[in-house]
Amino acid sequence: MMGNDNLEGRRVVLTGGASGIGRVTAEAFLRAGSRVAIIDRDEEALRRVLEELGPGVSGFAADVSEPASLREAFVGVDRVLGGVDVLIANAGISVRRPFLECSPEEWRRVISVNLDGVFFCAREAAMRMMAGVGGVLLLMGSTNGLVGYPYYASYNASKAGVIELARSLAIELAPKVRVNAICPGYVMTPMQEREYTPAMLEQVNAKIPLRRHARPEEISELFLFLASDRARYIHGQALVIDGGELAG
Ligand code: NAD
Repeated sequence: MMGNDNLEGRRVVLTGGASGIGRVTAEAFLRAGSRVAIIDRDEEALRRVLEELGPGVSGFAADVSEPASLREAFVGVDRVLGGVDVLIANAGISVRRPFLECSPEEWRRVISVNLDGVFFCAREAAMRMMAGVGGVLLLMGSTNGLVGYPYYASYNASKAGVIELARSLAIELAPKVRVNAICPGYVMTPMQEREYTPAMLEQVNAKIPLRRHARPEEISELFLFLASDRARYIHGQALVIDGGELAG
């Protein structure tokens, strides 16, 4: 086996890499010697991240829920990287809302970013992988896609969809393409910070056996492992990384 678990030189496309888990994961793959392309709809944040991460990373502004703009971004990726070995479909949004107050527009927006967006990205990447030497698809689920949480009906449904999409693709695209979903519990990122009061944070930490949120770095470790050849027999799974929360 090569150094860095065969991640050196790998062409990694990562969505939602301008913030939170995606940004930290982009840095981790760069450190492992991979070539990284970030797709994010937040142009300003993307520009800043590209400046901060330096050479080895390229960026494309696109909304993953818009197939036309996403297709253009992948054409840009082809130009810069000449193909895709690993897709990390990480971009997502979360809306906390009691079910009876959830409007059809809000429901559609969450499903269209979190589920349609993952489908569009997986299709673009898989077309390239199937026509070439294969690759790895890693789709961002959540423990919210495995158990019920109140006030997050659209988010929960979107993540359950991602988990099932990963299983379906694992059967259809094997053996050329290896596919898994990853399901973090609570991770401290801007997405969480936007939603918490200090009292809420304390309440949530109390129900996690490890008594704290995950750090984004801890999630990126799982992405690195699953993308690498060390995980070559892990396929069609929804891997939970939650500090023991679902065990409780
Ligand atoms: P974040 O808000 O910090 O980052 C999300 C990034 O995705 C941002 O850069 C944003 O601009 C981008 N993005 C959002 N919608 C997009 C779109 N339509 N097109 C392109 N880019 C888009 O969030 P995070 O906490 O790092 O979450 C990343 C992923 O991890 C999400 O899919 C989220 O559901 C999932 N997740 C997060 C947690 C958590 O506790 N933070 C837990 C489980 C799963």
